[in-house]
Amino acid sequence: MSVDYAAARRWRGVLPTLGALVLVVVVAFLAPAEGYYLNIFMQAATYAIAVSGLVVVLGYCGQISLAQAAFFGLGAYGVAIGTTHLGLGFFPALVLSAAFAMVLGLLLGVASLQLGGHYLAMVTIAFQEILTLVLTNWIGLTNGPDGVRNIPRPAFLGISLANGHRFLALCLVTLVLVTFAVWRLKTTRLGRAMQAVRDNELAASTAGVNSFGIKVISFGISALIGGIGGGLFASGFQYISPDQFTFSESIVLLTMALLGGSQSPFGSLIGTSLLIILPEWLRFLKQIYLAVYGASVILLMVFLPEGLWGISLQRARRRARPIEGEVAPLPLLAATNNGDSSEVLLKTEGLSKHFGGLKALDLVDLEVRRGSVHALIGPNGSGKTTLINVVTGLYRPTSGKVTFLGNDVTHAAPHRRNHVGLARTFQNIRLFRGMSVLENVMVGAERRHNDVAMHPQAVVERALAALDFVGLRGDAHRQVADLSYGYQRYVEVARALAASPDVLLLDEPGAGLNLTEKHELGELLRRLKGHGLTILIIDHDMRLVEQVADYITVLNFGRRIADGLPREVLTHPDVVAAYLGEARHEAA
Ligand code: ADP
Ligand code: MG
Repeated sequence: MSVDYAAARRWRGVLPTLGALVLVVVVAFLAPAEGYYLNIFMQAATYAIAVSGLVVVLGYCGQISLAQAAFFGLGAYGVAIGTTHLGLGFFPALVLSAAFAMVLGLLLGVASLQLGGHYLAMVTIAFQEILTLVLTNWIGLTNGPDGVRNIPRPAFLGISLANGHRFLALCLVTLVLVTFAVWRLKTTRLGRAMQAVRDNELAASTAGVNSFGIKVISFGISALIGGIGGGLFASGFQYISPDQFTFSESIVLLTMALLGGSQSPFGSLIGTSLLIILPEWLRFLKQIYLAVYGASVILLMVFLPEGLWGISLQRARRRARPIEGEVAPLPLLAATNNGDSSEVLLKTEGLSKHFGGLKALDLVDLEVRRGSVHALIGPNGSGKTTLINVVTGLYRPTSGKVTFLGNDVTHAAPHRRNHVGLARTFQNIRLFRGMSVLENVMVGAERRHNDVAMHPQAVVERALAALDFVGLRGDAHRQVADLSYGYQRYVEVARALAASPDVLLLDEPGAGLNLTEKHELGELLRRLKGHGLTILIIDHDMRLVEQVADYITVLNFGRRIADGLPREVLTHPDVVAAYLGEARHEAA
């Protein structure tokens, strides 16, 4: 078995970057061992490390952090104070201060529980400002605006790194290691979870990703990396002061990440080098230098929204090839299946959801039995989607109870419900648009407690099997955003199937499909039914519902008006009236 999902991507762009790095190293070591040029290289190397941290939190996880200079400063001051005041060695001081930066980063990430988007960005600004104030005013510890002098450079394995070239070598080695780690992170389970949160937090959580935890971890990793960069910076320059770690430096770091391409550590390398070298190049312009500098940065960002590295990403997307190799068929029956078709897997009791005065759900009872296809129908606005949202944990019910596999999950978080075997699709497609088709489905396959979740190779194969099942394996490497609407729906179904759920919830999978696609959907549903998968489906197409449904529940104005076998339900006078009512309404 040799299905290798990352082969095509793995070495892309790495050789040119290594080549550039070797060039930089040669130039750096031709320059004198101290002084102006060495300082530029030292600054570029340590900044680039800090910018790699932003790749994690901003590029991968989508959270804007305007406090990276603060973490850089924490690392720098930790090493400065540790080595000059506390008599620690450089490396212990570096480890401690980077760990301290990480702890504060995790705490900052915790703020994302209550705040999102711009508000979270503002909290990071506040954090940044507080750190600047502390560095400036806690004179006993930081020496205030005068800064810390005579920060020593260490020895490593008995070799003194006091010489500028040697210390730069330490910075470059660290940079290479950090870049490599961040690059590999992108194709790990954690990295995919981060990108899923970035692209669609709701979908990520119902696909089993603990989005809050992932954001906290991203902030922690980013702060850790920032702290490492700062620690090296302090020893490199041997003198630091609070004005080197202010809000405006955070903006510079952010610009470096965005300019190069925040989604790749290689992009961030390019961005950092450019923003450090550009001012040097432009110095001959004298007075107008800042204006030209600002304008070039703005132009680059306007025309290359994905950053300079985006060019390489787009080329790689065009070159993507299908993945060869046999995979085991998709296991559609979960391990918990005992074959008892009278067993109720999913149950709601007296479920209500009110939005202000509107009763979107009003005391709804529902029982979904193992191996059945259960259709939930009703006119527009009757509460069908709300029911699925309450069942999957996106909404808290006003009252009532949700039981899944015998456990009360009424108050469980969406990702926990997914972990125990609930998977869904959305009426309005929610995919991870920055990721490939395969990666989208891999996020589903990586559901905790799934038999494959911990085995990267098996996850790839499970995801391919799910894509095979919906007929999209040939598109595995395409960006989901490039697929037609109908195919995007299938990717969502595949993402849910890859989790090997006990119950699959489909919210209007036929919406927006053309006739041929609807026909294919019917085929797909019949195949799923044939495998005995338990499905709760919302659909408007009565022919389809009649063909596949074993049970039907009808909602109208949030109330259950009928429930039972298709024959009985579809001829029930209230149901006929509700649907005729709607037909009349639409005609009007
Ligand atoms: P259906 O899926 O059956 O078409 P929905 O469950 O989407 O209906 O909506 C049921 C009712 O609840 C509608 O009147 C809708 O406007 C309302 N509703 C749904 N979600 C919200 C929300 N987040 N806030 C306020 N009202 C909502
Ligand atoms: Mg709906």
